[in-house]
Amino acid sequence: MLATAERPLRGELSAWTWIDSTPDGLVSLVLITPASESDPGLGPLAELAGLLPPSAPLPSPGLRLVLHTDHAMVILPRAETALRIPTDEGWADFVRRGGTVVVILGEQSLEAGAGREALERYLIAAMLPGRIWLGKTTIAADHTPAQVRGEKCIVCGQPGGTLTPVGYAYTPTSGGPLGWPVAAHATCPTALEEES
Ligand SMILES: [Zn+2]
Repeated sequence: MLATAERPLRGELSAWTWIDSTPDGLVSLVLITPASESDPGLGPLAELAGLLPPSAPLPSPGLRLVLHTDHAMVILPRAETALRIPTDEGWADFVRRGGTVVVILGEQSLEAGAGREALERYLIAAMLPGRIWLGKTTIAADHTPAQVRGEKCIVCGQPGGTLTPVGYAYTPTSGGPLGWPVAAHATCPTALEEES
């Protein structure tokens, strides 16, 4: 089921993060797309991870987040894959404080560095035909105890091999999310190109 061939991650990806106001208050968003037309679309990966098109109620498929200084990892459930995205301090701060994060994966490409208008055009054009998939989460989504202690890979959940620090995962406490330095196999996260 989790064959490597099912991970359409050989191509380059583009990513954007921003914060938007919605009827439910402020929400932070992440859009990840193929970087060019020759790169494979993210639909198969999104469906494997349980994200749904905009016509469905927004699911909570168990996406997990790891924050580092200037980037974050979006860990996709069932795909045993993490997408690394560039972030800025404002976005990371919002997420660290427990804000809702909506992750959007796109089938069609959008060029890295595309501005806000191009981004909105992309989302509107992809909405009706269902060429984007969405899922929501927060920073304090579930990691296993062995993962937050850095004993198992934060992405694939397996021990062994060389685990290198990749940033901080967070667990909820009464005083707010608590950060844990976590680790991953070098081959587990997938790097992205620079964002705009
Ligand atoms: Zn791993």
